[in-house]
Amino acid sequence: MKINENVSLKDLNTFGVEAKTKYYSEISNLLDIEALFEWKSKNNLPALLLGGGSNLLFKNDFDGMIAKVCLMGKDIAKEDDEAVYVSAAAGENWHDFVRWTIDQGFAGLENLSLIPGSVGAAPIQNIGAYGVELSNTLHSLQAVNLETADILEFDKELCQFGYRESFFKSQALDKLLITSVTFRLPKKPEWHINYAGLREALAGEVLTADVISQAVISERQRKLPNPSQIGNAGSFFKNPVMKVTDFETLKSDHEGLPGFPQTHNDEVKTSAGWLIDQCGWKGHRVGDAGVSDKHALVLVNHGNATGSELWQVAEDIIASVEGKFGVTLEPEPRVIK
Ligand SMILES: Cc1cc2nc3c(=O)[nH]c(=O)nc-3n(C[C@H](O)[C@H](O)[C@H](O)COP(=O)(O)OP(=O)(O)OC[C@H]3O[C@@H](n4cnc5c(N)ncnc54)[C@H](O)[C@@H]3O)c2cc1C
Repeated sequence: MKINENVSLKDLNTFGVEAKTKYYSEISNLLDIEALFEWKSKNNLPALLLGGGSNLLFKNDFDGMIAKVCLMGKDIAKEDDEAVYVSAAAGENWHDFVRWTIDQGFAGLENLSLIPGSVGAAPIQNIGAYGVELSNTLHSLQAVNLETADILEFDKELCQFGYRESFFKSQALDKLLITSVTFRLPKKPEWHINYAGLREALAGEVLTADVISQAVISERQRKLPNPSQIGNAGSFFKNPVMKVTDFETLKSDHEGLPGFPQTHNDEVKTSAGWLIDQCGWKGHRVGDAGVSDKHALVLVNHGNATGSELWQVAEDIIASVEGKFGVTLEPEPRVIK
């Protein structure tokens, strides 16, 4: 494992924020994982695993090791009468992997098209879009414990998935390196097209995974700023989930408040974007840090914003939404202090 020192992270995070890491390495094989394990046991410094850097905000320089996971490979692991099982190594690009499954004639991941980042990071926050989450199709994953060097296998239940949550995020962050993920893709596909925007775009179409994927791609390109043109990390806040009774009280004071009933019948998810928009934040800008004029949920770096400047905008949004609605927003990306 080659270790570089004082490496700029600007091109390694989709916010395009300038920050330096003291040490930087790339993990391309098992020997590199062993070397990282040894480095960690000898150095009393933090080690952060990096994928595509699309769900991170670096507030400061990083005084430790950033290890970019570059493990590559994908294949059809097995097949039975009902499903195919496809596996991908953690460093594979998520969208390329989704497109590969569709090109093979498999369905199940089409709604998750064009989400940036790597396969290995996808289970961390149980990525989701257009009414589908990774947990719908995840079968199992492999990880290495960076404290014991044990190789571990997690089935879906062990992953403890929730809304933008998992065991890996809540209990094992930086301790487990996810090396590969396996998905179970049913041979009899179930389409999920009831999401606003998607249903209209697909009206009258013969549904296939490819057709749905193309519609999702168009919708995302229309709605979300492209990180290669303007730095961002997608939705900066989670949609708040609350008790039905609290939602009804809030709605009686704020007409038009959107609500989406959750599988737990007594809970409703509301729209963080709507709350932020009502506080007048869309298009707001202080220096180079701001809020997208396309989508109130997306913080943007217009050029040279620092992580602290972006975080200040986030804190101001949290305070104003709390003041107007009494709802505390939680950031979705990981903020590295
Ligand atoms: C324009 C845009 C749109 C987005 N849209 C969505 C969306 O629709 N839905 C959604 O859920 N997310 C969305 N995101 C967020 C992001 O794409 C996902 O969270 C993605 O899974 C992050 O992948 P990454 O490889 O970039 O992870 P990184 O940002 O590099 O890392 C995220 C976390 O995962 C950890 N990590 C990375 N790799 C590994 C590994 N191999 N093993 C263990 N830990 C690891 C990191 O340490 C970090 O804590 C969007 C982001 C952008 C920029």
